[in-house]
Amino acid sequence: MTGHFTTEAIVLGSIDYGESDKIVTFYTLEFGKLKGIAKGAKRSKKRFVNNLEPFSYIKLLFFQKQGRELVMLEQAETVRRFDSLLLDIDRLAFGSYCLELLNEMTLEGQKNQKAFELILNFFIMLDAGAHIKTIVMLFEMRLLSILGYHPRLEMCVVCKNTPTNNNRIFFSSARSGILCPNCRGQEKSLILASPGAIKFLILAAKTDIDKVDRIAMPDWAAEECKRVMDDFLRYQLGKELKSKRFIEKISFKYQSSNIK
Ligand SMILES: [Zn+2]
Repeated sequence: MTGHFTTEAIVLGSIDYGESDKIVTFYTLEFGKLKGIAKGAKRSKKRFVNNLEPFSYIKLLFFQKQGRELVMLEQAETVRRFDSLLLDIDRLAFGSYCLELLNEMTLEGQKNQKAFELILNFFIMLDAGAHIKTIVMLFEMRLLSILGYHPRLEMCVVCKNTPTNNNRIFFSSARSGILCPNCRGQEKSLILASPGAIKFLILAAKTDIDKVDRIAMPDWAAEECKRVMDDFLRYQLGKELKSKRFIEKISFKYQSSNIK
């Protein structure tokens, strides 16, 4: 497909290239993930008004030539800014993490309108002051659902029994779901979780991100959900994300209990 196109886009990341260019990765409404070069971006304040930085929500005009890996960015118009995220280190760190997660879990050129709406609504709610740990869990679970990687949490993946409130539950990233005490057998690398925490994950997978305020998650449940999600995403991605390591550092410095 060769031609000029416009689309709404969220900037996932950008790097300087040469003396005045930038290479930018976007998640777009019409084309999914897209990578392009902005010639003279560091000089041109007219075509790109400092809006090729992460978190920018823009309307993008670009030229695509069949067979080229990078599109040519022609103009970017700001639709909305999420400046408050840049002023709060916790919101900035978790926002960067969700951008990196979306970037790592998607391939270029695969349109997914729901994934675009998810990242956009995530920033709107994060910017509006949503509880950070809850909205990040919602983002993770919704993204996994949208992309078809969600773990099976309603019943044991082996015997199909639904856990009771008295059961201990074991989460297995390798099996992408939960195991009951009878079926855990010799499975390795299991994460012990309570039925209560697993219910929050099930709820998160079903809740639209703009309804985040309807979920009131106690700290103990947030901790358990985080252990499950961290392990599962590390398994899915085959690595630890850079932004995740940064979060661990600032959590250690400020005590994680301060991040609400
Ligand atoms: Zn079982």
